[in-house]
Amino acid sequence: MRHFAIVGSGPAGFYTAEALAKAYGDQARIDIIDKLPVPYGLIRFGVAPDHQSIKKVSMRYDKVAEQETVRFVGNVAIGDAVSVDELRGLYDAVVMATGAPNDRKLGIPGEDLSGVMGSAAFVGWYNGHPDFADLDPSFDTSDAVVIGAGNVALDVARILSKTRAEFDGADIVAHALEALMASAICDIHILARRGPHQIAMTPKELGELGHLEACAPNLDADDFPPAEADEALEDRGLAKSVGILRDYAENSAAKGKTVHFDFFARPVRIEGDGKAERVIVERTHIDETGRARGTGEMYEVPAGLVVSCIGYSSPQIEGIPYDHRGGKYLNVDGRIDDGLYAVGWARRGPSGTIGTNRPDGYQVAGEIEAAMPPGSGGDKAGGSGLDDLLEERDVHATDFDDWRKIEAAEEAAARDGAPREKFISTEEMLALLGHK
Ligand code: NAP
Repeated sequence: MRHFAIVGSGPAGFYTAEALAKAYGDQARIDIIDKLPVPYGLIRFGVAPDHQSIKKVSMRYDKVAEQETVRFVGNVAIGDAVSVDELRGLYDAVVMATGAPNDRKLGIPGEDLSGVMGSAAFVGWYNGHPDFADLDPSFDTSDAVVIGAGNVALDVARILSKTRAEFDGADIVAHALEALMASAICDIHILARRGPHQIAMTPKELGELGHLEACAPNLDADDFPPAEADEALEDRGLAKSVGILRDYAENSAAKGKTVHFDFFARPVRIEGDGKAERVIVERTHIDETGRARGTGEMYEVPAGLVVSCIGYSSPQIEGIPYDHRGGKYLNVDGRIDDGLYAVGWARRGPSGTIGTNRPDGYQVAGEIEAAMPPGSGGDKAGGSGLDDLLEERDVHATDFDDWRKIEAAEEAAARDGAPREKFISTEEMLALLGHK
């Protein structure tokens, strides 16, 4: 019998568990461990609340968790309640699937002013992540700045600009919905340090911006290269995105709120009296290597709220070598050390779609299978050893049945048309289960 621990219950963790369960059948026991009492990681806390169809992928993960050989072990923080070394002592292989929940820093003056936050915090706040329930962003301002030209920047800009009716069917948490509905923000400035040909925004997500009820995109046609240059773009998805932007530049009509795209705009400083009031921006041009270079020309953008959407990093955990530049665990094709692996964003850094994690998880499961073929013996204690350790330390783990109880309570509390009203505190979830 082999025993495997997967640390993190987001997409990468579940695809790896699925692959291991298939490969080993009854010859392995798999524990999917999460620091929160509830599963799904990025699906629950990262994917936008108005993108419910994407969240449906969790139904596939349920089938994995319901298998006899797989357990969900929630409310157990690895690196805190239990160390990585202890876990490695208990299991034949440990797979880090922690994702990349921490914000990368901008590294500019003013970043610590009140009103400035990273997307992990802001997205976590409107998605009900217990760590960010108290963020309390202020919307008592006419202008917000969103830094970055990726899909997370689009998510944030869209959430800031939707009407109440447009949140019908979304599982945005009540505190966020009410705060957003009282928001005074009417101008949202997306700052992209490079140009339209260098965006990381995908067509479907960009297209949504053109169909908002009370908000329209605004772009300067002069920021674009000649239209013929689009044909030379090898990435056809990017060419499509650029086409959508061109259409917005030519045809967009004002609707009240506006999402302004500032290209060639690099934030150099955030200023304000105790809180963010403006972002000082340097115009850039792109050099021959494709990098943004400052031109020395500065301008300011008013901003009472600044959300940086410039990427994420994995948490540093004792016992795991860390790649500081990439913000992920040091690994070669997913292998960190004998019996220690990384998958998903913890392995590759924060890029790719949810589906990218499937081949990733299957490949690492394949490596584990090659290193310890199904049927080969092992003498590790596995899950029962973990249970003993948790009992000794008075840690109340949650299982998948507990999650089902939390899920049922969230569904029962949902406002009309919404799929659920999430608990926003771990204590509330544990109280429901009768844990301390
Ligand atoms: P991303 O796609 O890597 O975009 C990050 C953006 O931040 C880039 O435009 C980058 O510009 C910019 N940036 C980085 N450092 C910066 C700095 N110091 N100053 C100013 N700008 C900076 O990351 P993301 O938006 O966080 O998305 C992460 C992944 O999740 C992506 O694969 C994304 O597609 C995916 N995602 C998908 C969806 C969806 O499908 N609906 C939704 C959300 C996220 P440069 O290019 O110049 O470096």
